[in-house]
Amino acid sequence: MNVFFLGTGAAEGVPALFCNCAVCAFARAHGGRDKRFRTGILVDNTVRVDLSPDALAQVHAYPDLPLCDLKHLLFTHSHDDHFAVRELQYLSPNFAPERDAPLKIWGTDYCMQHIRVTMGRFFEPVPLKMGVVTPFETSAVAHLHVTPVLARHKVDEPCLNYLFTEPATQKTLLYASDTGWYAEETWAFLRGRRMDAAIVECGLGIAESGYEGHLSLDECARFRQKLIADDCLSPDAPFYLTHISHRGGLNHQAMNERAAPLGMTVAYDGLQITI
Ligand SMILES: [Zn+2]
Ligand SMILES: [Zn+2]
Ligand SMILES: [Zn+2]
Repeated sequence: MNVFFLGTGAAEGVPALFCNCAVCAFARAHGGRDKRFRTGILVDNTVRVDLSPDALAQVHAYPDLPLCDLKHLLFTHSHDDHFAVRELQYLSPNFAPERDAPLKIWGTDYCMQHIRVTMGRFFEPVPLKMGVVTPFETSAVAHLHVTPVLARHKVDEPCLNYLFTEPATQKTLLYASDTGWYAEETWAFLRGRRMDAAIVECGLGIAESGYEGHLSLDECARFRQKLIADDCLSPDAPFYLTHISHRGGLNHQAMNERAAPLGMTVAYDGLQITI
């Protein structure tokens, strides 16, 4: 299974739109791995997870990826940095005359209801199909088996993380953005389920915010240890951090230096991994 990191930044990106803190100033000056689009991945060049407000910029930044021909788009939740669904209006024949197949979007009933309301304001109908996914129930999405698990992120909406399994290789990836520390229901579901890699959000970095809907660097380390203790992950399995915020207080290199001894690697935009 191949994963391409389209974006690895938190809600306002890095450097952020209206911020000139030390992390943003460093990112503006140095670019490279310190510059982060809003978070999303592309799995096996086929299944995209989340549509960020940087979706067009990502199409421009990665011309070799088949983003314009996308057939499957999964949503994790409806926060704006993952859910730029007004962009879906550009699927219509007037804007994409050569598209030959509908886009199938997947997510919770909550997300689909919001998308239906948004579509009502589109210029013309769009070729979209909707697939509702249910926490802890597996769906076939393209060639992958996709199992949503309940994240802990928003009180008024069921937010999802995803297990992706490639049937041909039986490799499994946990994609956990966005989430705080899981409720017992999710830990119980995951216990004993083997995964070969994990991508976990680290929206808080070393900041002490008290916000429970994201994970800090220390919490990510505990999250990894819990997956190892619960017989999900081996200690040498790849464990990547994403959804990085300038508010986390560290640039890429400094964060990676803290993450590495804890068995974790900080992802960056354009990173490609094979599981
Ligand atoms: Zn987010
Ligand atoms: Zn900043
Ligand atoms: Zn969110």
